[in-house]
Amino acid sequence: MPSGDRHFNPVFSNLPTTIFTVMSALAVEHRAINLGQGFPDEDGPLPIREAAARALQKDSNQYPPMKGLAELRRALATHTERFYGMRFDPDSEIVVTSGATEALTASILAFARAGDEVVLIDPSYDSYRPVAETAGAIVRTIKLTPPEWRLTEEALRAAVTPKTSAFILNSPMNPVGRVFDRGELEAVARVLAASNAVAICDEVYEHLAFDGRQHIPLASLPGMRERTVRIGSAGKMFALTGWKVGWVIGAATVIEVVAKAHQFLTFTTSPALQRGVAHALEHEIGFTLGQTRDLQSNRDLLADGIAKLGFKPLPSEGTYFLTADISGLTNESDRDFCVRLVREAGVAAIPLSVFMQGKKPDNFIRFAFCKKREIIEEALVRLEKYFQGGRNNGPALLGS
Ligand code: PMP
Ligand code: GLN
Repeated sequence: MPSGDRHFNPVFSNLPTTIFTVMSALAVEHRAINLGQGFPDEDGPLPIREAAARALQKDSNQYPPMKGLAELRRALATHTERFYGMRFDPDSEIVVTSGATEALTASILAFARAGDEVVLIDPSYDSYRPVAETAGAIVRTIKLTPPEWRLTEEALRAAVTPKTSAFILNSPMNPVGRVFDRGELEAVARVLAASNAVAICDEVYEHLAFDGRQHIPLASLPGMRERTVRIGSAGKMFALTGWKVGWVIGAATVIEVVAKAHQFLTFTTSPALQRGVAHALEHEIGFTLGQTRDLQSNRDLLADGIAKLGFKPLPSEGTYFLTADISGLTNESDRDFCVRLVREAGVAAIPLSVFMQGKKPDNFIRFAFCKKREIIEEALVRLEKYFQGGRNNGPALLGS
């Protein structure tokens, strides 16, 4: 039977494979340095992995509680109180999930009904839209514009309507590295307070705010706790992205519904990895805070290096990512440029347009700097050789 006759869900059958998989495969094929997909090239602290290995050998490997190990939920409550002064009950206000990806899916499915509106900020992380559309929701976007990518009350008011059931806020924000400031968050809070919407806050980069900036959870603003879920990821906090341990934290009434979606997505998450993450939160948070300093210095190294080559780096206030304007180097689209870069210069990056909908600029690319310093240095050497050593003879080069 031709696939066209089958009743596939068009949301997924019409989707391309994610750009992260595409660019990582090209990076392997061309032995390129992978500054595309955002994952650290060194695993987080050994004691965390040892704690998980011990649990794997000595503890039960049967289904842990649906909401997650009590020990991990307690550690998450302590972490939230320590960093943000907010108290959540580990029994009724926290659910452990298989990565932030599952936490996002469970939250979107919990809040969005068919015909409701889900508001996203554009550019946005690529998993939000397909899940909202699968729930039958209509996606509305708030377009941010470079280079400031600022969120305004006017744009928020235009997007949030009486039909909005969920507003997804990602700060620090992948892909553009914004850390929304208090003024922007207050505008979000004002607009949401006048609506029925719940805020789904993707805070996986919560500890990666640079230059002394503070990550402010929306939930900490007056009136927001009751209508907000905070999503985190151990993969990001402890450089263990393959573990896929995440969580959702929020008011009991809201978490109860998220837990019901979670029970039919995965039901639960590897108990050994949960123990490892509980250990990490209790003993290895110093690694997380050190990572912030190291990544900030990687950001600076990369931004200075590429600026000398004709890229125009945009500010990166947080996350793993630095974006750059390529219009001084090429007329190609961001995608064509990235394909040429990985093949010919041996450095992989991600075209920014894949994170955007509708009319969009195609002159920005995203580099991930969550790598060892030597790797960033080597990437810069390769880029220098390519752009300054006469190897850059791409057909669409400006002036060529
Ligand atoms: N949200 C954002 C903004 C991300 O960049 C990522 C990256 N992986 C995720 C969610 C998913 O996190 P996890 O790997 O824990 O599922
Ligand atoms: N969050 C990572 C990024 O933005 C990739 C996650 C994935 O590959 N799905 O690069």
